[in-house]
Amino acid sequence: ARSFNGKTVALFGLGGSGIATATALVAGGARVIAWDDNPESVARAGREGIATQNLREIDWSGVASLLLSPGVPLTHPKPHWSVELARAAEAEIIGDVELFSRERAARAPDAPFIAVTGTNGKSTTTALIGHILTHSGHDAQIGGNIGRAVMTLDPPDAGRSYVVECSSYQIDLAPSIRPTAGILLNLSPDHLDRHGTMQHYAAIKERLVAGSDLAIVGVDDVWGAQIADRLEQTGAELVRISKRLALANGLFAEGTDLKQAREGKVRRLASLAGIGALRGQHNAQNALAAIAACRKIGVGVEDIQAGLASFPGLVHRMEQVARRGHVLFVNDSKATNADAAAPALSSYPRIYWIAGGLAKEGGIEPLRGLFPRIAKAYLIGEAAPAFSATLGDVVPYEIAGTLDAAVAHAAADAQNDPAGEAVVLLSPACASFDQYRNFEVRGDAFKASVCALANIEPIGG
Ligand code: ADP
Repeated sequence: ARSFNGKTVALFGLGGSGIATATALVAGGARVIAWDDNPESVARAGREGIATQNLREIDWSGVASLLLSPGVPLTHPKPHWSVELARAAEAEIIGDVELFSRERAARAPDAPFIAVTGTNGKSTTTALIGHILTHSGHDAQIGGNIGRAVMTLDPPDAGRSYVVECSSYQIDLAPSIRPTAGILLNLSPDHLDRHGTMQHYAAIKERLVAGSDLAIVGVDDVWGAQIADRLEQTGAELVRISKRLALANGLFAEGTDLKQAREGKVRRLASLAGIGALRGQHNAQNALAAIAACRKIGVGVEDIQAGLASFPGLVHRMEQVARRGHVLFVNDSKATNADAAAPALSSYPRIYWIAGGLAKEGGIEPLRGLFPRIAKAYLIGEAAPAFSATLGDVVPYEIAGTLDAAVAHAAADAQNDPAGEAVVLLSPACASFDQYRNFEVRGDAFKASVCALANIEPIGG
């Protein structure tokens, strides 16, 4: 990171991305002083050759910047102490995405850079764009919130493309971010604990697309629709996307057809028919955004269609695990609350639903409209009694207790489903911590249990 050559940088937060960022800064000639509230992280950084010192004890007068790791509170619920020290010293406060943006501006300003944000679908869209680009012969580097920290990617070079998932937090800490294409998928109240008001949360996301050469904005919620209207008035290059409206200008979905409307002409760009990994209208939104971004950097429609068709999907997000006869087994362990479970429940007509764990406020009440799709529910974990009360007489259920029991019973019942096509779906609408360390471990346990069934045919890797 040569943009900091000769400067002193304070860095707080020594997880994986903090260490990668510190290493890149040192390699570029910066003097880095790093710290963390966790003594083990400090010790580990020290072993990796990073200079550590308590930032409460340093002389801030010579410090140009404070680099914050994702997750260190900037404003909510209150600023972290290192933020207050930096503000008092009038040092700028930035994150690793800002560092990446400056590196790119200095070394390879024309290297395609696609930034993806939104309340839901960021990881899927980022991975999908990376897949389409790789598939069509680009050297695509994928990182940010998903997978690798940006500073561990191969350094900016005119021959590489970058696809970076950006949380609001990272955008907030990246004042000079200027992507080739900036995507805002959707906005709904979430993470307000971190950002205060919805206005503030939306304003951060708006800044990303407003600073992009091409703004790609989902207009299916009022926030995105208003942002698109404002951008249009400034004459920005803009593509609107909608998963449900036939737009006069923009990209939209009509069933599984993905279409483009321009100057009164409508043209079909791609189709999602039969692509299991991109099932559901929410994935149409993700695919439309990916298409707009890939078009911007010159990918042809045939390459895009081939990339969509071969996208393997992300693990733990409506991941198709296996088949047995007419029964499909789907792992959606990432759905840790009711809103996140809604897309999966909306995507299949006949569901043997495994749900439960540690319930969030409101439980599964918001999913009531989807209950007619549920043939039977298999409840696990602490939430089972509360969920059974919500299901009441409307949906048949059993309290299975464990995931293994739930899989065994759901598989047997689905096998005998009179309607034929059926799905055994883990989409728990709960956190996992009562029974599992995290949603990944829970999803892996589901997959292991499914793959141990007799006569099962695993899908994919
Ligand atoms: P994020 O990275 O923003 O958390 P993911 O791509 O990991 O999003 O998807 C998480 C879950 O959110 C998925 O399992 C799915 O249920 C839901 N989801 C994905 N894309 C969308 C979308 N465009 N709109 C609404 N929900 C979505």
